[in-house]
Amino acid sequence: MAVRTDFSSMHNHTVFADGKNTVREMVQAAFEQGVKHFGISEHSPFPAFPEGGMRMEDVSRYVAEMRQAREEYRGRMEVYTGLEQDIDSPAITEDFDYVIGSVHFIQRGGKYYPIDYSEEIFLKILEEVFLGDIHAFVQEYYHRVSEVVKITNCDIIGHFDLITKYNENDRLFSTNEEFYRTCVQDALDILVPENRIFEVNSGAISRGYRKTPYPQKWILEELCKRRAKITLNADAHHRDNILFGYDEMIKLVKDCGFTEIMVMSQGAWIPVKL
Ligand SMILES: [Zn+2]
Ligand SMILES: [Zn+2]
Repeated sequence: MAVRTDFSSMHNHTVFADGKNTVREMVQAAFEQGVKHFGISEHSPFPAFPEGGMRMEDVSRYVAEMRQAREEYRGRMEVYTGLEQDIDSPAITEDFDYVIGSVHFIQRGGKYYPIDYSEEIFLKILEEVFLGDIHAFVQEYYHRVSEVVKITNCDIIGHFDLITKYNENDRLFSTNEEFYRTCVQDALDILVPENRIFEVNSGAISRGYRKTPYPQKWILEELCKRRAKITLNADAHHRDNILFGYDEMIKLVKDCGFTEIMVMSQGAWIPVKL
């Protein structure tokens, strides 16, 4: 079966932050792979942890390169300028076509600890910030996630259960226990009525951390039951991964009961049949 290329790929990164390729290389690769609706969503600047985002002084250059790419591919592929806005990043004045709202950090005493940077740092946060109490860690994470629309006014809620990145096979905590489910449901109670799009994100698979996309299956089933909207993203940090895992993600979301996903087309989010 050929990879469906009529879905958008809107969560991608470049050398402006932690990606491996330039804007030009990513856009060209998307076009060569047959993508029709393509966006790059560079990380918002994060001065307290500079390697977590673009440099503030690069934002306008990033936007300019994206606008140039949009003109270059006009009529052949839609190119959108996005931003992955971390909930703790300073606000940015530039205008973006869409925003992905994400939580990447835990803050303590003015210091920011990235939860998805390495397993070593994740375990350090667990020990030093939460004194080994994984429940406290999970609870604080989902509390922050529940605020992501209020704070970033995002179109897309990024990698909803990122806290499971190093938790393949539930080796650090159980995602089946009542406590965890309650944290998730409480966040969904707040976020679903906001009527934004949840992304299904294969980024941790392409980078070898997980075997399944974010969010995990029972959360996707819950999203379907609550009639939430979803989209597919690869969170690609390399041009080869722009459509990574799309076939598997399509199969998964169909299994969960979804019949359509959201795609940005002609500048608006529209549902496309699966
Ligand atoms: Zn992210
Ligand atoms: Zn990302």
